[in-house]
Amino acid sequence: MTGSAAGEKVGHGGPAGACRDPLDGAAETAAFGRALLDWYDAHGRDLPWRQTRDPYRIWISEVMLQQTRVGQMEAFYTRFLDRFPTLADLAAAADAEVLKAWEGLGYYARARQLHGAARQVMADHGGALPTTRDGLLALPGVGPYTAAAVSSIAFDRDHVVLDGNVSRVLCRLLLVTDLPTRQSVRQRLIEAGERLLVRGRAGDFNQALMELGARVCLPAAPRCDGCPVGLWCRVRAAGADPTAVPQRRPRRPGPHLQVTAGMIWRGDRLLLAQRPAGGMLGGLWEFPGGKQEPGETLEACLRREIREELGLNITVGPEVASVDHAYTHFRITLHAFSAWSGRGTPRTLACAAWQWVAPADLGAFAMPRSDRRIIEYLVAQQGGVHPPVRPPSRHRGGH
Ligand code: SF4
Repeated sequence: MTGSAAGEKVGHGGPAGACRDPLDGAAETAAFGRALLDWYDAHGRDLPWRQTRDPYRIWISEVMLQQTRVGQMEAFYTRFLDRFPTLADLAAAADAEVLKAWEGLGYYARARQLHGAARQVMADHGGALPTTRDGLLALPGVGPYTAAAVSSIAFDRDHVVLDGNVSRVLCRLLLVTDLPTRQSVRQRLIEAGERLLVRGRAGDFNQALMELGARVCLPAAPRCDGCPVGLWCRVRAAGADPTAVPQRRPRRPGPHLQVTAGMIWRGDRLLLAQRPAGGMLGGLWEFPGGKQEPGETLEACLRREIREELGLNITVGPEVASVDHAYTHFRITLHAFSAWSGRGTPRTLACAAWQWVAPADLGAFAMPRSDRRIIEYLVAQQGGVHPPVRPPSRHRGGH
């Protein structure tokens, strides 16, 4: 495979109006498959996870691909596998090490499930990943997408993989205009995909469709003139606007929350709290705080949150940084304040654990991206995370 430009004219899209049906008999299906695979063999990107037949590495790549773009993923993939080169290494690691290696990727529940599945593979399968879709589905956290992807790419099992790119490509090829997330549409696409699949090269076929969706059949600007399977595309033959196929659910902007975080000092140590394992960002360490309630000042919010979460009374100092961060369904502005704690010992009222940490050790903890950006901001602005000179005396010990 080579990494030539996506816009290169490599295909035979053919004029709009001419259309062959890829499902019209074995010969047409085979011709479609050949055109797709010839294009992929010549123009597919030479990505690190395509250079291996190691099922463990393919598994890691497929889990990561579900939550980040290829361009951003390569560095995470390399870093994770440098740290855990084998499934046995991952299974033997401590929870905190796995979260730390996953830091920045988001969806931390996936990291915990991956870790749990690796342990189960060591315990029940002698360290070898199951080779079938059903065997993979039996592992914790492995869903239909991952099971189909790993079984086809690592073990050449004849299963189609339906991710967002593949759904869009199939909808356009077959002129399916309905929402692809609908169960009936999904089922139709899977059945069509299984019929189109090139037996014995299912892994390459799936990756070719993914690649086509990522580089040619783009959501907003499909490159139909260079499309290697344009001859079989019903949207193109119908002269329809490909960007209108399939339907897309209108995105409603999620709420924008104001969230506080306390950089709470005791001497030269900062307080970190660990989020409860089961929830969002579970297991990560953060500057404690929480969401502002209506009518509450940010300072009052922070004092309340720290009382509720850690049973501590604090003195809130100046705001030292704020960052915006977008999650899937909402956005936040995180306001970080300097603060000082009274004498009490923190309690784990609404966190899993807490620690007083020297600023130099902050890098050792797996933290949410927004907290990490607060640290990066302070390093850029003042050369590091330093304790403020002294608490404002008029607030000392106040609430
Ligand atoms: Fe190819 Fe997609 Fe254009 Fe159809 S809509 S010709 S599949 S790029």
